[in-house]
Order: sequence, then C-alpha cells, then structure tokens
Amino acid sequence: MRAVATSAELGAAVQAARSEGVEVGFVPTMGALHAGHRSLLARARGETGFVVVSIFVNPLQFGPNEDFSLYPRDRSGDLDVLRQEGVDLLFAPDQAEMWPEPPMVRLDVGPLGTRLEGEFRPGHLHGVATVVAKLLHQVGPARAYFGQKDAQQLAVVRRMVADLAFPNQIVACPTVREHDGLAVSSRNAYLSAEERVRATALNRGLRSGLQAWRQGERDPARIEAAAMALVQAALAIEVQYVALVDPDSFEPVQMPQAGHLLAVAARIGQTRLIDNLVLEEA
Ligand code: AMP
Repeated sequence: MRAVATSAELGAAVQAARSEGVEVGFVPTMGALHAGHRSLLARARGETGFVVVSIFVNPLQFGPNEDFSLYPRDRSGDLDVLRQEGVDLLFAPDQAEMWPEPPMVRLDVGPLGTRLEGEFRPGHLHGVATVVAKLLHQVGPARAYFGQKDAQQLAVVRRMVADLAFPNQIVACPTVREHDGLAVSSRNAYLSAEERVRATALNRGLRSGLQAWRQGERDPARIEAAAMALVQAALAIEVQYVALVDPDSFEPVQMPQAGHLLAVAARIGQTRLIDNLVLEEA
C-alpha cells in the first residue's frame, strides 16, 4: 500500500490507476480504524479495482467545545488495518495541506444541517459536507462508501451529490455492532468499563422501539417512547434525542413506514454516542 500526504501525489496516483481502466473506490475516514471502517474497506475492495482511503480529522466538523484535540489517533494501527484490507492508497493530508487557510467557501446543507445532529452539533454537518466535497474532488472516485451508522451524514452526502451533480456514486454500508449490540465507534474508546455497559442501552432502546413497530404500533410518539424508556432506564445517560424521521429529510414522520429511521443520540459521561435502526417491512 502506498501512502501520500499531498493532493498532487494523490491526483497522480489515482490518475495512473484510472488510465489503466480501473474503477476507483473511496472510503473517507477520520482514522482510529475499527471493524466498522473495515466493513466499508472490504465492500470497496470487492466492488472496485483501486481503493483509496483518506484519514483526516476535519476541524470544520467539530464544535468549539467538542473533542477535536482528543479525537483518537493511531497511525500505526491504522496502517495495519489498511494493509490487511488490501487498500491501494492512503491519503493522509495534514491540516496545512487540506486547509492552508480556513475555507472561505463552505457548503450550507439547509434544514438537514439543523435537525437532530445539527441541533446538538451546530455547524457539524456543514463541515462534513465541505470536507467530503473537497475529498470527492481530490480523489474523483466512481464509488464512495459511507456507514449507515452516521445516517444523517449519509443523507447530507447523498443530497449534496444529487443537488450539485457530483459524478460519484454513494454506497451505504450497514452498521457494524459489538456482540452486545453497541454500534462500533472510535468514540467507544472514551468509555470507562462501567460506561461501556450502560452504553448498550442505546441499541436496546432502539430495538424496543422497533419491537413496538413490529407489534403494530403506528403512533410515532409511542414508538419513540418505547425506545426512550429503555435508554433512560440506564442510569446517568443524558438522552439528546430519540426521533422517528424520514431517512432523506430527517423530518419527523407523522405516519411510520418501512424505511423510516429511529435515531438516538445520548451522552454517557463525557462521551456522545449516536445510533439508529431502520423500520423494516411489517
Ligand atoms: P469516521 O472515521 O468516524 O468519520 O467514519 C468513517 C466512515 O465509517 C463513515 O462513513 C462512518 O459512517 C463509517 N462507520 C463508522 N462506524 C461504523 C460502523 N459501526 N459501522 C459501519 N460504518 C461505520
């Protein structure tokens, strides 16, 4: 696997692959790679001939009081994962390469950027869209892979690609979970042993909401309440939202349907976690 740190080297390497007629797959990440990332890498490996991964902890998507400086960084562990997964090229720019100065032009993702995640992390999704737009231009992949775990990010990227006619195909990959249902996340590393146990309440709550749906409940407030009850029962979890939403607009739904998304965000101690489940056909 080759690793490059500049956009110029990236462009040349991708161009060389493309000139051989190979389709380029791209997985953008912030590093601290885990089983969730691996699933995206494996999917890209299976579907494209040249897999590019970026590792860049993007300051634009962190609020002033968030964990930008604390965010886990593990370059040697990441390199092991990338080699094991057969990645062809790592693009790992530093801040000066990516944003020589803070970008003046940024993407505004409209109401998608102010609902749910956007309400609790103002500016986060605008920062995500801005960096993903830049990375998609730099890499120029046929297909780019994103996790369903960050469902609102996925919705923002899909909408950006549609609204602004990006030529890239966006591929959504299912959420990878620990054996007890907790969604794998780089931020799980922040949890103490005791917080790690309590964190399972997020997924248990979502499953309880899903169970209500399966049993015929069609009042969105009751489905949300079924989820909320279990999350709140876990002591000292600060629930930020439990919401049944449309997976494209992230607007609350009046009449639940298969495909709608039950999403949760909560703080456990200092750690903020998110998760979601999709209502399946009843
Ligand atoms: P991050 O490094 O956290 O920015 O994540 C990079 C990509 O990996 C994003 O598209 C995430 O949605 C995806 N991802 C993170 N955790 C998981 C998971 N548990 N399952 C599937 N995809 C994930």
